[in-house]
Amino acid sequence: MNSKSNTIVFWFRCDLRLHDHPALQKALDIVRNARSGLDAGTAASKDTRFLPIICLPDFLEESAWGFSRMSALRRYWYLSAVRDLAEQFDNLACPVLICPESATTALPRLAQSLNITEVVCEEIAAPFEQEEVTALRASGLLVTTVWQSSLLDPADLPWISAELPAVFTEFRQMVERAKILPPKPIAVPTSFPPRPELDIPAHLQLTLDQLVITEPTPEPRSSFAIGSGLFNGGERAALSHLNRYLNDRLPHTYKQTRNQLMGLDYSSKWSPWLATGALSARKIFAELKKFEAHHGANDGSYWLWFELLWRDYFRFLHVQYGLQLYRARGLHDGPLPDKSAHRVEVFQRWCDGETGEALIDAAMRELKSTGYLSNRLRQVVASYFIYQLHGDWRAGAAWFEAQLLDYDVYSNQGNWLYIAGRGTDPRGGRIFNVQKQVHDRDRDGVYRRTWGTL
Ligand SMILES: Cc1cc2nc3c(=O)[nH]c(=O)nc-3n(C[C@H](O)[C@H](O)[C@H](O)COP(=O)(O)OP(=O)(O)OC[C@H]3O[C@@H](n4cnc5c(N)ncnc54)[C@H](O)[C@@H]3O)c2cc1C
Repeated sequence: MNSKSNTIVFWFRCDLRLHDHPALQKALDIVRNARSGLDAGTAASKDTRFLPIICLPDFLEESAWGFSRMSALRRYWYLSAVRDLAEQFDNLACPVLICPESATTALPRLAQSLNITEVVCEEIAAPFEQEEVTALRASGLLVTTVWQSSLLDPADLPWISAELPAVFTEFRQMVERAKILPPKPIAVPTSFPPRPELDIPAHLQLTLDQLVITEPTPEPRSSFAIGSGLFNGGERAALSHLNRYLNDRLPHTYKQTRNQLMGLDYSSKWSPWLATGALSARKIFAELKKFEAHHGANDGSYWLWFELLWRDYFRFLHVQYGLQLYRARGLHDGPLPDKSAHRVEVFQRWCDGETGEALIDAAMRELKSTGYLSNRLRQVVASYFIYQLHGDWRAGAAWFEAQLLDYDVYSNQGNWLYIAGRGTDPRGGRIFNVQKQVHDRDRDGVYRRTWGTL
């Protein structure tokens, strides 16, 4: 292994793409400045190398509730995003290093034989992800993190970060009154600086050939049909999906259809790609604005912006409250959830879609078989679990984490807290009446029959 050159590592996290990537750009700038001597560098720094790395999560890790943190479907989704990115790097003659172990193990080990002067990665304001960075720093590595996953740049917000408006509506109104817009997406890099020479033991890296991904059998009832060529997790599939969604002019009907339960096009289906970072929210916004310029804006295209602001809101909530969002009581000082009320067998029946309540069971079966569930049904099953079954909301959130292709730490935790009334909801929790939802959304029983509960 060449240990003389300095190496800047770019560590991919939930940002598996090349487009609109400020953190990757930051790493490339550091390398290029060093190589051009702009930072008054030594001979070693003028030969600075660039190494992109993906560290795979521990797929066998269990949640505190006794089940795997990542279902087979979510694993497939994630790995197909990894594979697509690795192929793109190969095409650009800069192979990405895929390590079959966590960053906190792989990077310090790599640093023993490679002169890693800096690790650059995206900033993730959630406890486990913060601990990873702390552990890397404790191992002696210099780690630079770059915030990039929100639509809006925190630096543009009309309040200081510790004063996030408590309620979402107030947050949205302040953003809109101040006319704050997302930064424009940045350009895709077309070439990369040289990679260091590596001589890494075979068991510490995976080649593309070894990254075998078995496609799941397509589930014809799914609203998000993974396993077909169109629906793989990669950046290239994400961008074609975005194009198709806009070319079919679906934003115009979004507001009317968004609470439906079945089908591909009732909502945007951007979330599974946003979750792995295969798609950037700022790219979506830029394309949505072009769409409005060509085809006109309406309440549907506005509502997509509105929903993306929810996504941002839960991100900024994490920046402000961090670990407090993970306490059983959430942000509230009131009583803790009653531990004795959470019964394991009841939780299991909810997970398996065997509660005896047809709409709930249909939704939970859909979630388990497909890794996707409409927003409305996510709200209904979460409310049922908390208020009818008296389950611990954190167990429900953990089950969603394991199952959802679009699992996103901020949005999942934020929505569960919101429904449980332990976040910032001014109404103190959301209870959905199941019979009303059946009446409004599945009067003819098609959804429940599809999932075998009627
Ligand atoms: C209990 C519960 C847990 C959830 N867990 C997640 C999760 O882990 N990951 C996730 O991405 N979303 C989560 N959501 C939010 C929402 O259900 C999904 O974002 C949405 O259903 C994804 O489908 P779509 O892309 O077609 O959304 P669309 O309806 O087309 O909305 C467009 C985009 O806006 C954003 N968005 C929409 N609604 C919300 C919302 N309530 N909160 C945050 N962002 C939103 C998403 O990025 C979405 O892709 C959860 C909601 C609930 C009630």
